[in-house]
Amino acid sequence: MKISEKHTRFLLERRNSQIDRNGLFALDSIPARRQVIQYAGEKIPIREAVRRFWQIERTKGSKRMYLAKLSRGWVIDGAVGGNGSELINHSCDPNLFTKRERGTINYYSKRRIRRGEELTVDYRYAPDAVQVPCCCGSANCRGTINLKR
Ligand SMILES: [Zn+2]
Repeated sequence: MKISEKHTRFLLERRNSQIDRNGLFALDSIPARRQVIQYAGEKIPIREAVRRFWQIERTKGSKRMYLAKLSRGWVIDGAVGGNGSELINHSCDPNLFTKRERGTINYYSKRRIRRGEELTVDYRYAPDAVQVPCCCGSANCRGTINLKR
């Protein structure tokens, strides 16, 4: 499924991923340091995100969380009003980086991205949070999505 051109200047497609379920792939090459897509969704306070987290935990994996940290007290829930960017998987050697600007989260290309490459970003989970194993397959994989202490 293609991502609407309302959300990105590049041809992106949602596909099955080797990393985890679905991912987002570049159908064209993307030059370095370009804005690729905004992380869209509903802006909610942390305590609402925590409430949704526990609600989804009770579904035992049938539903997924798509939260991205916006600022100290706020997150964006990509499960509500997301544009496909919430499907971008984690890698310890990502081709995108995150910029938080004017109350939005944007993904930029870190380097030139080849046609057909999966888009990835470093989720940078806190070192003291629940440890999530990483399957990114990169040579410098940390072993977990969490940052090292
Ligand atoms: Zn990794």
